[in-house]
Amino acid sequence: MITVDQALSIVLGQVQPLGSETVALQDTFGRVLSEDIFADIDLPPFDRARMDGYALRAADARSAPVTLRVIGEIAAGAQFEQPVNPGEAVKIFTGAPVPAGADAVQKVEVTRANGRTVEILEPVKPGQFITPHASEVGSGEKVGAAGEEIGPAEMAVLASFGYAWVRVGRRPRVAVMSTGSELVDVSSRPSGPQIRNSNSYTLAAYSKRAGALVDILETVEDTADATRNALTDAANDHDIVITSGGVSMGDYDLVKGALKDIGAEIYFDKVIIRPGKPIVFARRNGTFFFGLPGNPVSTSVTFNVFVRPAIRKMQGATSPCLQTVKARLSGGLKDGSSRRSYLPGRVSIEDGKAVVESLKWGGSSDLVAFVRANALIVVPEEEHEMAKDALADVILL
Ligand code: AMP
Ligand code: MG
Repeated sequence: MITVDQALSIVLGQVQPLGSETVALQDTFGRVLSEDIFADIDLPPFDRARMDGYALRAADARSAPVTLRVIGEIAAGAQFEQPVNPGEAVKIFTGAPVPAGADAVQKVEVTRANGRTVEILEPVKPGQFITPHASEVGSGEKVGAAGEEIGPAEMAVLASFGYAWVRVGRRPRVAVMSTGSELVDVSSRPSGPQIRNSNSYTLAAYSKRAGALVDILETVEDTADATRNALTDAANDHDIVITSGGVSMGDYDLVKGALKDIGAEIYFDKVIIRPGKPIVFARRNGTFFFGLPGNPVSTSVTFNVFVRPAIRKMQGATSPCLQTVKARLSGGLKDGSSRRSYLPGRVSIEDGKAVVESLKWGGSSDLVAFVRANALIVVPEEEHEMAKDALADVILL
């Protein structure tokens, strides 16, 4: 058996970025940059007024009140060509370029207009209410790096610097396939030993959230033939095949054997992790296989620890793993396992600090309890107890 860290480094060592494609800016949300992003202009491109008011020479209004002659006005989008001379002011609106000669803006609230003149009621400092030319970004500066995810703020940066088209990482095509003769579809009512297939939906949702293009395939019954055929078909047009179920030690746990039969190379089949010890990672040609255990909480944990990083790395993400933070335990917890445990937790912020509650759950089949989890509490292999108020590593889901 190998450790979680060993297994993860095998996954990240095998999986490589799929390459990039160019997409329109409006389609880049959630994608991973595959080019560095540079400013093609200065921001702001000119000395910009931060307030509605009057552009003037600060020296004229060092003490107030003072009356200045208004020689014109400039709205955002307009340019005022005439310089502002001593004793003069120009009415200006937020976002407009400050005219030559002026070196400050006084906000309209502390002025009084009298036709061709304005009274400045409070003293003015040089530079006041002006965002100087290029003070935010200079042309040529790097403002984004390959491997970063594009969120709403990144989209503003891309738009501001003319990236109508952006090079982003290709999204992996992921097939999700549940195995188990006990499984029935969501639209049937299970009878006797049957249960509804829930994992396919969870795995598809997690995969989509990670950026994959997802197909849910038909459920496979527990026969070697059916498992082999389904895996072969699934591999055809997918970069990753995720299966659920059929990886334990039972007679009907056929996934690993079927992967071997179809010529896949098995990299590992057991990891020192709880829940989810039996997990298979394999490859055949260009397709990677993750055989996850069927118990729904095990499925979710192993997806987030091993599969998500693979999906993100294929898109070229620099940090493919979910974020780990420290959080204070709101109560003590016990963990009899000598494997590394990932326990469902709920993180909240109390007095500005992260606190995590270890959720009561009925074991790795308890998918209803798992709904409340927004994090996984990591309990190291050698620790069996953590005290209330101890700082735990917590993976944010
Ligand atoms: P297995 O890993 O195949 O031994 O399955 C372990 C447990 O998870 C069994 O109780 C299964 O019924 C359950 N299970 C397996 N696949 C699914 C699925 N797709 N949706 C919900 N539960 C499942
Ligand atoms: Mg099964």
